[in-house]
Amino acid sequence: MTDCLFCKIVAKEIPAEVVLETDRALAFRDVNPQAPTHVLVVPKEHHADAAALAAADDGLADDVLKAAHAVAVQEGVAGTGYRVVFNTGPGAGQTVFHVHAHVLGGRDLTWPPG
Ligand code: 5GP
Ligand code: ZN
Repeated sequence: MTDCLFCKIVAKEIPAEVVLETDRALAFRDVNPQAPTHVLVVPKEHHADAAALAAADDGLADDVLKAAHAVAVQEGVAGTGYRVVFNTGPGAGQTVFHVHAHVLGGRDLTWPPG
């Protein structure tokens, strides 16, 4: 998609601090981190939100979730606890409409979130 911020990051047209790359997913640090570990994991293929990702075929959602867990392991937060969040829709705080999993960890995470 030409006018999508995260497609541009995937295409390396906009810089980002990439922490993990697979065939079909890219993980990079959030520019405005909300925790010591705050990484965004996106499918390289454009899908607007988690609903569209869930409807995508051939295991793309699996690949994104596996990449999110691999990031948690790599960041050293898998043992202490981490959160994977898909804000889905404006009412849930989604602001970038290329689906992304937030991987948050490295501090106490309260529940429910605000
Ligand atoms: P959302 O609100 O859609 O769930 O999350 C979007 C996230 O993207 C926010 O946490 C925001 O800080 C992050 N973000 C917005 N623009 C950029 C950018 O240009 N680079 C990076 N790395 N993160 C961004
Ligand atoms: Zn996109």
